[in-house]
Amino acid sequence: MAPTSADTKPARAKGQGQWKLGHREPLNPNERSKKDDNPLNVRARIENVYAKRGFDSIDPADLRGRFRWMGLYTQRRPGIDGGRTAALEPEELDDEYFMMRVRLDGGGVTVAQLRALGEVSTRYGRDTADVTDRENIQYHWIRVEDVPAIWNLIEPLGMQTTEACGDCPRVVLGSPVAGVADAEKVDATPAVDEIVRRFIGDRELSNLPRKFKTAISWQQDVAHEVNDISFVGVEHPEHGPGFDLWVGGGLSTNPKIAQRLGAWVPLDEVPDVWHGVVQVFRDYGYRRLRHRARIKFLIADWGAEEFRRVLEDEYLGRKLIDGPAPTTPDRPIDHVGVYRQKDGRNYVGVAPPSGRVSGTTLTAVADAAERAGSDRIRFTPYQKIVVLDVADEKLDDLLAELNTLGLPAQPSTWRRSTMACTGIEFCKLAIVETKERAIRVVEDLEKRLADVVPDVPISLHLNGCPNACARTQVADIGLKGQIVTDSDGNQVEGFQVHLGGGLGLDAGFGRKLRGLKITSAELPDYVERVVRNFAAQRDGEERFAQ
Ligand code: SF4
Repeated sequence: MAPTSADTKPARAKGQGQWKLGHREPLNPNERSKKDDNPLNVRARIENVYAKRGFDSIDPADLRGRFRWMGLYTQRRPGIDGGRTAALEPEELDDEYFMMRVRLDGGGVTVAQLRALGEVSTRYGRDTADVTDRENIQYHWIRVEDVPAIWNLIEPLGMQTTEACGDCPRVVLGSPVAGVADAEKVDATPAVDEIVRRFIGDRELSNLPRKFKTAISWQQDVAHEVNDISFVGVEHPEHGPGFDLWVGGGLSTNPKIAQRLGAWVPLDEVPDVWHGVVQVFRDYGYRRLRHRARIKFLIADWGAEEFRRVLEDEYLGRKLIDGPAPTTPDRPIDHVGVYRQKDGRNYVGVAPPSGRVSGTTLTAVADAAERAGSDRIRFTPYQKIVVLDVADEKLDDLLAELNTLGLPAQPSTWRRSTMACTGIEFCKLAIVETKERAIRVVEDLEKRLADVVPDVPISLHLNGCPNACARTQVADIGLKGQIVTDSDGNQVEGFQVHLGGGLGLDAGFGRKLRGLKITSAELPDYVERVVRNFAAQRDGEERFAQ
């Protein structure tokens, strides 16, 4: 029988778009846009053209593509319900205002920097500001006309929006208590700073297959399991303290826990090893299909051993040192509360509701920190704020002041362990509302469950769509926004529930219980029921995820 075209067609005729295998011709519009013009070039057009001529002058390829490399996304046009998100064209969803993200590598700011972040919000962002779960500050209602003025405000103080979004190395997560924590053996800050200095804004790395997320910390307080690359503190029996290398974590619609490469990396080699891994991703990453373009797919196909071999042989030109796995804590560390630093002073971690603050609040936190004698404030990957370097005698006043601002250091377990993504208020991909919903649910649970306070935190992560920006799959109760049918047959906002996920000792994904979908209105009832059942049936020290 003569072969049909289906028989003769190679299974992967186009490959998967890996540059290293010769697939340099763009295979989709995103790749075309990046090839046509380095996305970092958009900055000059914003400064010289768009900020002067206004929103309507913006080239659509810049608006929906390259603007992201400057930390800018158009925000969702108000009034479009989540059921229509998937059906509309991008231009129908675009508002003429922007979400702007300031990357804060390592998560730290000074008082002066925090005041500037507050000022950006009050002057240009209608007093909006969210602490994201990647240690960024995110604004809304930004006009393109104001973007250069914002850069003029923050950049002289050492902050930037460059590569805060886009297919490039995003903000580098660092420990919120780097340099002060008693338990820390190596402060990773020099490695974070060197990566930013050498590689952020580097045109050789500004066209990656997709986003690339980094976490570097001695402690396990940066959700290292779900980053594209992580360096986690570990003691080597011969070489001493250094970092264990993990690659290929990520959530979204195809979640993966990062894999250890079994390599121990000393602090001063972290930037070069990081650079090698990014280059492997740039050159071998899959560019053909957007949904397979994260490094986690490469690691899943190659395996950790082969990935390490390519990294060593083709990029580093040397072998890495084998190393042990770090010891895993019961749960990731969120730093909420008051803790002693190694220098005898204290750090204070407080919990804004779902990371929502405002420019006014940020400025007030800067003032309060200064009055307490601190010049170091940190943001955490759990949407929290930490004030460092507080002397004992300043502690009470600071705690009282932060409490007045709605930032308690001893929040309820619900306030402490609830996170929410941006959701339908501003995000164009959202199907449901999240931030305000989370705030109301927390208030509700504080009343309903006053008699059942579990001695283990139970995390609740609200996400507006399957993209899992607030880490749906690694929460005790993870919620993925979707339209569901209520008991009267109406299509309403709701969630698919993922139960029993976690990081730390319980690192793994929650079970997506078939058919377990709840409406947004049912959420407090549902959580109350689950928690009461857990409390009633709990066996000794059993954790929620067990
Ligand atoms: Fe937007 Fe979805 Fe991410 Fe939420 S999870 S911020 S709705 S993309």
